[in-house]
Amino acid sequence: MINESQLIITECSKCNKIIWPRCNFCDLCLGKTNKRKIKNIGKIIEFSKKNKIIFCVGEFEKIRVIGTLDSKSNRIFLNSKIKLHVTKKSNSQYSYSFTLIKT
Ligand SMILES: [Zn+2]
Repeated sequence: MINESQLIITECSKCNKIIWPRCNFCDLCLGKTNKRKIKNIGKIIEFSKKNKIIFCVGEFEKIRVIGTLDSKSNRIFLNSKIKLHVTKKSNSQYSYSFTLIKT
């Protein structure tokens, strides 16, 4: 059973292309896809601050998601390692947030 608080993507069983948003078939080779969890460690692609909220585009296995970065630090850099957190808001709605990983 897949934990819904993870971001679930589909991956082509033939060419391994990751398909997001999820689809039953690969858009490259029309192979059948399988669902799996995305690796929840990625990096910061873009960020901006508004008041005290840091909006961030994170990249995880080449999939980009927008969320908020939970950090008190003023030292935030592009390509910093982040962890993805998924919160289920309703049946089909999720919100994403990130925390910095100390390296
Ligand atoms: Zn494919």
